[in-house]
Parts: sequence; C-alpha cells; structure tokens
Amino acid sequence: MKLKTLEMTLQKLSGFEKPRAALEQYQTPAPLAARLLYDALMQGDISGKVVCDLGSGTGVLAIGASLLGASVVKAVEIDAGAVAVAEKNAALVGAEVSFIIADVREADIADRVGPCDTGVMNPPFGAQKAHADRPFIDCALAVAPVTYGIFNAGSIPFVTAYTEGRARIAAITGGSFPIRRTFAFHTRDVQEIEVEILRLERIPK
Ligand code: SAH
Repeated sequence: MKLKTLEMTLQKLSGFEKPRAALEQYQTPAPLAARLLYDALMQGDISGKVVCDLGSGTGVLAIGASLLGASVVKAVEIDAGAVAVAEKNAALVGAEVSFIIADVREADIADRVGPCDTGVMNPPFGAQKAHADRPFIDCALAVAPVTYGIFNAGSIPFVTAYTEGRARIAAITGGSFPIRRTFAFHTRDVQEIEVEILRLERIPK
C-alpha cells in the first residue's frame, strides 16, 4: 500500500466520541500517523511483524500497521469507549487488531501484552498530568526492542535522560499536529502542536 493510499484510508476513521481531557485523547491526524507507520515499514519494522500500539485510542496506528502487513497487531487502551470506536474503524477498513482493555501502568502489563517486535504509540504528552508518558515508555521498552513514538517537539533530552542505559533514541522526523478545539480550556479553534517522531531502540541487557 502506498503512503498516500494509507493516509487516505486512515482519514476515513472515526474519532473519539466524547474525548476525555484527563486521558489526553487526541487522535493522531492521518498524515502524521501514516508518516510514522511508513517510516517504520521502511526500516523493516512492520511487515510480517508483531506490532503493539500503546494507548491505541480510536485505533489509527494499530489499524495502519495491520494494513501495512503486520502479522499480528495488539492494541492496549484504557478506555473501553475508545476501543468500541476502534473496533468499528478496524472493521470498516478490513484491519485485524486484537484489543486489550488495560492500563499501561498495570504491574503485569508486559505479560498481558506479550513480546512484540515493534511498538507504536502516541502517548499522552503529560499536558494534563505531568509525566503521563513515562509508563508508556516503560511498557514499550518491556515488550518491544524498537518503538516509534510521537512526542512533543523538544522531548529528546527528557526521553534520552529517562531511558538512559535502557534505550538509544533516534529522531525520525518532525511534524505538526493540528489540535482542533476539543476541550473547554482550548482557546483557539485549531492549535498547531510541534511534535517529533522518535525511534526508541532498546539496549540489550
Ligand atoms: N493512539 C491513538 C490515541 C492517542 S491519544 C492515536 O494515535 O490516535 C492517547 C491515548 O492513550 C488515549 O486513547 C487514552 O485513552 C490512552 N491512555 C491514556 N492513559 C492511558 C493508560 N494509563 N493506559 C492505557 N491507555 C491510556
């Protein structure tokens, strides 16, 4: 599947019905999601691989990974309502995803997810709750040797320090994330958030 086709397919997916601010529920825009997945595909990390999406929301990344030929896609999401939307989205475009309704902070989360080849995620940036992205990074490193994540621009120093001795970080690409007015505290109709896609490569113990 071509990048443009992937992007157009992901564009068809429904978003959060009632987005919850505390969970930082923002759907990754199709162009950014397609970009992350295509970069991962080109690195040999999607096709024929076991992929997990942490905080899968309405399923954009998980569904895209399936469409690009992942052999198994597991998607972990705390909000059952979002999973219901994601299941409909997967059916709409013929993607196969196994959803796991769980909190990435659960002690046995790595066992529940099982070993994967590749992680993908757009974790909460910690705008509502500081450090909300840490358990996502921990979970990703526990289950997969390589993870592609979307972070706020300027996160490299934090992610590098937080994963010191556990992962090497490579910046894949920057981008921007248009956030439409979703919550009462949003003051503009659309706000562009600068983000970067990072590749976290686990350092073997
Ligand atoms: N991956 C989706 C959603 C990103 S928004 C996309 O790219 O469009 C972040 C998601 O993480 C939300 O769906 C939110 O419900 C979920 N989330 C937040 N905290 C979580 C936690 N502790 N465990 C699992 N999922 C969580």
